[in-house]
Amino acid sequence: RAKESGRNTFALYKTAMQAVSDRRLEMEKALHHATEFKLFELYYQPQINDKEGVIGAEALIRWKDKDKGFISPAEFIPIAEEIGLIVDIGHWVLNEALSQVAAWLKSGEWDLSWRMSINVSPIQFQQANFLPMLQNQLEKHDVPACCVDLEITENMLLSDLSSCLEKMNAIKALGAHLSIDDFGTGYSSLKYLKLLPVDRLKIDQSFVRDLLTDKSDEAIVRAVIAMAKVLGMSVIAEGVETLEHYNRLREIDCFYYQGYYFGHPVPAKEFIDLFVHDSSTLKSTL
Ligand code: C2E
Ligand code: MG
Ligand code: MG
Ligand code: MG
Repeated sequence: RAKESGRNTFALYKTAMQAVSDRRLEMEKALHHATEFKLFELYYQPQINDKEGVIGAEALIRWKDKDKGFISPAEFIPIAEEIGLIVDIGHWVLNEALSQVAAWLKSGEWDLSWRMSINVSPIQFQQANFLPMLQNQLEKHDVPACCVDLEITENMLLSDLSSCLEKMNAIKALGAHLSIDDFGTGYSSLKYLKLLPVDRLKIDQSFVRDLLTDKSDEAIVRAVIAMAKVLGMSVIAEGVETLEHYNRLREIDCFYYQGYYFGHPVPAKEFIDLFVHDSSTLKSTL
């Protein structure tokens, strides 16, 4: 009996493992297909200042598989990185985001002072041709570099600091901006941070979530703000979900925000309808 039930447990385990690897294989196949036929969409989430005005948007990729429905980028981006599709996907994202900014500039719906934040995977950033590719895209769409903000992560700096720095400086020389995404969750040291030509730190949402109840999270957020000030960087808080978050952040001198309190990521047309034409939506999305 014991042997039997052991065997059954093992059989169940095998079935579960098989299901995991089946899903993974299906995902890879579907992702190849989606990349080849460009079956992605970009959503845009507003970034806000302390006067509740728009200062830009973050472009966030969306993938709706015909069988599986919406699949989170948190799930498929890491897979795309592993199987080498992220370079093509990242190129598509940049092209799409810049063509959207170009269209909005033309229609007068995008302010020249706003920035389009684009997530860049470390693998994409490390490509030898990343810089000429960026330059090409800016020229192709005739978008001023100052309208672009590239979001990179701390861990990218671990690989090859000097070539990273060189690239970052070249991006700054073009006139584009750089932000560190998910700041506080990675491995960057203060020693490196002061060397980086970075405009902005995005405080990770995990520190913002419990800001009002967790004293150490509040201390961390305060410390990041103080440090950024010394380094001449600005700070934007991610994951601002409530009026209480917003008020507390303002009290501790954080002046830029992104989160559901102000607006969810939405398709391009809705972004303009909700946040540009009718800016009263910004405060009433709760
Ligand atoms: P991220 O760059 O840190 O983006 C912020 C994530 O937080 C987004 O999730 C956004 O929808 C979500 N978010 C915004 N406001 C709130 C809030 O108030 N509360 C909570 N709980 N969440 C909020 P999303 O769109 O699912 O993206 C997840 C991650 O996938 C991104 O994190 C980024 O690392 C990656 N990603 C998304 N789009 C791209 C892309 O085009 N290229 C690359 N390389 N990565 C991307
Ligand atoms: Mg981001
Ligand atoms: Mg983030
Ligand atoms: Mg992230």
